[in-house]
Amino acid sequence: MSYAAGMTQPGESAADFAIPATHQVSNQPPPLDDFDPLDCDPALREALAEHGQSARIEELRPLARQAGSATAREHGRLANEHPPVLHSHDRYGHRIDEVEFHPSWHWLMERAVSEGLHAAPWAPDAPAGAHLHRAAGFYLWSQAEAGHGCPISMTFASVPALRHSPELAEIYEPGLRAGSYDFGLRPAANKRGLLAGMSMTEKQGGSDVRANTTTAEPLADGSYRIVGHKWFTSAPMNDLFLTLAQTPAGLSCLLVPRVLPDGTRNAVRLRRLKDKLGNKSNASAELEYEGAIGWLIGEEGRGVRSIIDMVSMTRMDCVLGSAANMRVALSEAAHHAAHRDAFGSTLHRTPLMRAVLSDLAVESEAAIGLAMRLASAIDRGQRGDRAELDLLRLALPATKYYVCKRAPTVIGEALECLGGNGYVEESGMPRLYREAPLLSIWEGSGNVTALDTLRALHKQPDTAETLLAELDRVAGQDERYDRSLRKLREELGEPREERARALAERLVLTLQTSLLLRTAPKEVAETFLATRLDGDAHTLGATGTRSDVLLDRVTPRKD
Ligand SMILES: Cc1cc2nc3c(=O)[nH]c(=O)nc-3n(C[C@H](O)[C@H](O)[C@H](O)COP(=O)(O)OP(=O)(O)OC[C@H]3O[C@@H](n4cnc5c(N)ncnc54)[C@H](O)[C@@H]3O)c2cc1C
Repeated sequence: MSYAAGMTQPGESAADFAIPATHQVSNQPPPLDDFDPLDCDPALREALAEHGQSARIEELRPLARQAGSATAREHGRLANEHPPVLHSHDRYGHRIDEVEFHPSWHWLMERAVSEGLHAAPWAPDAPAGAHLHRAAGFYLWSQAEAGHGCPISMTFASVPALRHSPELAEIYEPGLRAGSYDFGLRPAANKRGLLAGMSMTEKQGGSDVRANTTTAEPLADGSYRIVGHKWFTSAPMNDLFLTLAQTPAGLSCLLVPRVLPDGTRNAVRLRRLKDKLGNKSNASAELEYEGAIGWLIGEEGRGVRSIIDMVSMTRMDCVLGSAANMRVALSEAAHHAAHRDAFGSTLHRTPLMRAVLSDLAVESEAAIGLAMRLASAIDRGQRGDRAELDLLRLALPATKYYVCKRAPTVIGEALECLGGNGYVEESGMPRLYREAPLLSIWEGSGNVTALDTLRALHKQPDTAETLLAELDRVAGQDERYDRSLRKLREELGEPREERARALAERLVLTLQTSLLLRTAPKEVAETFLATRLDGDAHTLGATGTRSDVLLDRVTPRKD
């Protein structure tokens, strides 16, 4: 019965009270669901081809399509709408310290692990370019949901650190590399696949881990007994943690399993889960080590040297994660503008919206181009190329600084392209916006990564020469680029702590430009030069630079 019909009196008909329909929907875009993020990302394909991976691009297609599917996007939404829950005790009062996740979290994890995003490049028979291929996959898949990238990335990054102790690597690496997602706390030997985390940060010091007060006392059987409180440890249901603690010889790195080889629970208590701004699908815990048992990784007293190999890999993934978040925000913005009319014109035809979208697009293309360059440096470095390792040592912290720092600004602008709808949860944009600052904080926050760029220069001055040799390859082509390169030489020649951000920013902008000049269509490189190395615009779109080529490249096309 209609509302109007219910109001009729004897002798009156419903038609006398018919209320005009108010809910015809027009001028709203169709959902972006079921798009192909590889298709609308020529910059990614060009970078893969540039670094010798064109033959494997199509292997990424099924993963990309799944990342853009309605199913994956819905799992991403659900995993964040239903955050993990800590259960400290079971119904009988036994201490269990377990975290329960929504089935959608497990769905996302299962897909990521089965694709090898957590470990594939570490396989003994991994082909050349395996890091680059995995980086592209991680970037594409992260566009479905960001939070589960945390345990995937930490597991991936734990392997090179673990290899500082070959006997531990022999026990745990096969499980970490296995392609099965096997959730639950059981001894490593009884599981089809393992996941790893890192436990460094304490209340009194996160960046400055030397301030750690957690202790690890050596025991007669070669293990260590760990006591202390960790203020942040994400993914606490992972099977093992690379933990920093003070031994008699100083700060050391230890492997701490959640379940001991004899099947008993290790004394690792979960005090609380953090109530976070974003990253809702992922659990981040406060941990109490109450005499937990661990085994030394690497040399005693040289814990930073061991764990830094893990940190540099997770930093790479922060860059990829930020690039992914910016890219999916751009896809939403470009898609919306292509379907929405205002003032008699489709938004993406209006000059100013074209300038805004061009600016977002060129930021995204430069970010993924640089991320792929660094991933290829990991591949070459792993195969013994010293110069590539030098480039990575200097450029990775700077890139982590700059690309992650840009993400909140870029995503905020993309969100606004959707107007009011962009501010509403259902659009998915608020989730991206809340996620964005995190990648700039963990694994070295802004100042710390900028200062680490300086540290690389001080400790390994050769790194500057390697970088400049790369940048000189395109010198002389464009006056704006040459000017930026001169400024970078000046900063590199006289590094000062208070200018660490300026140096990191100059380094990244110059490197991004050089890559675009080498690989991107002329108009894309020109847009970057005009918007990033020229003029004095301070907000996105403010240079007024518009690029038809760019908008055509990045606007999603749906089958
Ligand atoms: C959601 C979430 C999950 C996390 N998960 C983990 C985890 O799994 N494992 C883990 O170990 N940690 C984790 N962390 C912790 C994270 O790595 C730290 O918060 C981060 O390293 C910063 O440390 P801090 O919080 O102690 O801040 P501080 O070190 O006190 O830094 C505060 C500010 O000072 C700046 N600063 C520091 N030193 C200098 C300097 N010399 N000069 C100028 N500025 C400086 C920093 O850039 C920062 O802006 C997580 C954090 C978050 C938010």
